[in-house]
Amino acid sequence: MRIAVPREIDADEQRVALVPSEMTKLVKSAHSVIIEAGAGSGSGYTDEEYRQAGADIRRSPAELYKDADVVFKVRPPKEDEIRQLRKGAVLICFLEVLREPGIAQKLADQGVTAVALEMVPRISRAQSMDALSSQASAAGYKAMLIGAEAIRKYFPMLTTAAGTIRPARVFVLGAGVAGLQAIATARRLGALVEAFDIRAAAKGEVESLGAKFVDIDLGESGEAEGGYAKEISEKAKEREHALIKEVIARSDVVVTTAAVPGKKAPVLVTEDMVAAMKTGSVIVDMAVEQGGNVAGSQAGKKVMVNGVAIIAPVNLPSQMAIHTSQLLARNLVTLFMHLAHDGKLELDFKDEITAGAVITHGGEIVHERTKELVHDDKTERKNHA
Ligand code: NAD
Repeated sequence: MRIAVPREIDADEQRVALVPSEMTKLVKSAHSVIIEAGAGSGSGYTDEEYRQAGADIRRSPAELYKDADVVFKVRPPKEDEIRQLRKGAVLICFLEVLREPGIAQKLADQGVTAVALEMVPRISRAQSMDALSSQASAAGYKAMLIGAEAIRKYFPMLTTAAGTIRPARVFVLGAGVAGLQAIATARRLGALVEAFDIRAAAKGEVESLGAKFVDIDLGESGEAEGGYAKEISEKAKEREHALIKEVIARSDVVVTTAAVPGKKAPVLVTEDMVAAMKTGSVIVDMAVEQGGNVAGSQAGKKVMVNGVAIIAPVNLPSQMAIHTSQLLARNLVTLFMHLAHDGKLELDFKDEITAGAVITHGGEIVHERTKELVHDDKTERKNHA
């Protein structure tokens, strides 16, 4: 099949969906690769490197899409990109169907087989295809570096002739993939780290990184089926609020990563908590794209409140584009090789990975959860009309 890789059109997107070193497996399996000129420039890969790895370079999106059997992309396609996809073509990218289910109908109408990276089930067999994890880990790393850079203090303890510097105190709220990497990064820099997550399993993971788990008895489990987080009750939120307030007040850097799949992120750091922090402290709100964990945080901005900086970076994986593109490309190639055999796509909907990640096929939405969301969306619009 001919695999096409367009240049990402979002201005803040530096990543590319395929890197030259990940092309070998595709070429060995008799697939060919076409790349839009400059597609890798934001992540440090030149057209020449792609050419040497066996790709054909196309000058424009139109030249690329007209020959594409399969499209590897990072971000969800825009209307104009959807229109250029050929009937029967396969698209693999982050589709964000849970946030914008409407895209599924457009892709089905275009006759595209759309595969959503974010819907690959988080099972051991699919770990090498888990793009949410590879990108979240890089984001957690970067978020902690942003916090370290902003506090105007050392992270490690230092004993010097001019006196002793006490280590920075860091609090990480939400210890999923991003949170754990943020903790590991702060520990490597020598900070004292505390963390909290509503999932009981997180305690051991936090402690294995040399951080202290803040024990909060929520009075209920924060875990849904499959080990994922669920939305907790108002009462449990109050308990969490009272206890994290004390930890936040003593922290120099707070990094928040708390999210609940398919839901708006919970607001965990409230105005009174920010007011209780020392001047010069920093909060990095990693959940801002899901609605934000911190009162007053603004996407893509640094807001100062009583001397406390609230930083809410967007698209952190893009800031690590050289490595995140490499990891994403491996996830994409592995997922594609799982779905294609003998040079063609062979979808077995009895397979958990296929059923979980394929959203549209043969002109229809085939993914049950997306179908429900699209249906709810349409009903809501009708009721509003
Ligand atoms: P996420 O980005 O959806 O959420 C981040 C964290 O926020 C989660 O750990 C969640 O428990 C936490 N959270 C939610 N509400 C909170 C609250 N009120 N207070 C504090 N913390 C709160 O999660 P993620 O990082 O994408 O994934 C986390 C889960 O997925 C874990 O169970 C992880 O073990 C699992 N996972 C499994 C695999 C695998 O088996 N292949 C791979 C990756 C992740």
